[in-house]
Amino acid sequence: MLADKDRIFTNLYGLHSPGLKAARLRGAWDGTKFLLDKGRDWIVEEMKKSGLRGRGGAGFPTGLKWSFMPKQSDGRPHYLVINGDESEPGTCKDREILRHDPHLLIEGAMLASFAMGAHAAYIYIRGEFIAEREALQRAVDEAYEAKLIGKDNVHGYPFDFYVHHGAGAYICGEETALLESLEGKKGMPRLKPPFPANMGLYGCPTTVNNVESIAVAGTILRRGGAWFAGLGRPNNTGTKLFCISGHVNKPCNVEEEMGIPFRELIERHCGGIRGGWDNLLAVIPGGSSVPCVPANEIIDCPMDFDSLRALKSGLGTAAVIVMDKSTDIVRAIARLSYFYKHESCGQCTPCREGTGWMWRVLNRMAEGRAQKREIDMLLDVTYQVEGHTICALGDAAAWPVQGLIRHFRHEIEKRIDDYAANPHLEPVLQAAE
Ligand code: SF4
Repeated sequence: MLADKDRIFTNLYGLHSPGLKAARLRGAWDGTKFLLDKGRDWIVEEMKKSGLRGRGGAGFPTGLKWSFMPKQSDGRPHYLVINGDESEPGTCKDREILRHDPHLLIEGAMLASFAMGAHAAYIYIRGEFIAEREALQRAVDEAYEAKLIGKDNVHGYPFDFYVHHGAGAYICGEETALLESLEGKKGMPRLKPPFPANMGLYGCPTTVNNVESIAVAGTILRRGGAWFAGLGRPNNTGTKLFCISGHVNKPCNVEEEMGIPFRELIERHCGGIRGGWDNLLAVIPGGSSVPCVPANEIIDCPMDFDSLRALKSGLGTAAVIVMDKSTDIVRAIARLSYFYKHESCGQCTPCREGTGWMWRVLNRMAEGRAQKREIDMLLDVTYQVEGHTICALGDAAAWPVQGLIRHFRHEIEKRIDDYAANPHLEPVLQAAE
């Protein structure tokens, strides 16, 4: 269990003020100039040493990502862009940072920007996060007023921080769609390459990082990469914000050590599973896009990138959606399919057509109005979508369906049998629309 002394987000629940004075008492902006004076290479090396993997879902090493930015400017400015779009169903961690610990984020943005030769950072905040945006803007104004950031600040490194908000499209959480939207265009993902590190915002070298990845940077650099690397497990280091929702007794957000076993996470922070552990059906461990894992496989699994990948799922954003035996699992995944169909930007045929197709078939299967051979046909379609699209939304739409068929094929077959035995049954499910 994570000791209090190792917590990074000490105001996660908003029990104290998010303002500058209180943030400084909690350690934010402490010795920032000292860290900047150590130089750009030292910061990148220390981040690499920490083993921090991006907290936005993909888990790419943050220090390595920073090192991809050109060392010298070719005349174009460099930018840091922070992804605060947080629209993955089940995920609700970045909003707590934005409204309760915004100074950790602004300080982290300055350090990260310095490490990449950027003098400006943009944050793209989900459109619905109005209070969060206002809280962050207040903190940014405070930081400007205290000359912690700005053209002429006490740290001697000119740095501007811009707060921008979206209009509620899930696809704008994809990094290149986010850049398009930030530039004022329709939020549609770009083909890669070129990658943002060469050609990002306004055609300039850009790194896009998640809110949590940036907000932890200041503390990591203050306490040392070795401290962070000492928490968790090899290749899965540090602390992580988990958002636990669904059928637990006390859903919550909590900062815990990476690799905490699922059972311990739920017992310690969520008061156990509703109706007891025997009532657990399945868990979606990393936000709606990762495949579900049945109860017997997840109970003792360490909650980290590699362990969950071994279960053919993923840690994603660590948004843990718990489902007990009262859940209609086929209907639940059909609902997720509807979400991806709705959020597809429509650029690629496999995603535009495939998401709707998967949703329509699953919707019938939830009622049993299907043929058993359609289960394999559906699985086949998921593989035709996965890996054949411009961005990862196609994968995100395919994986939950694959997880359902892998673990709950018997449930779909039972419904088909039940319906075949009594076809005059009223449909139990309304279309998700
Ligand atoms: Fe758009 Fe889907 Fe293609 Fe992504 S995968 S670019 S969301 S159509």
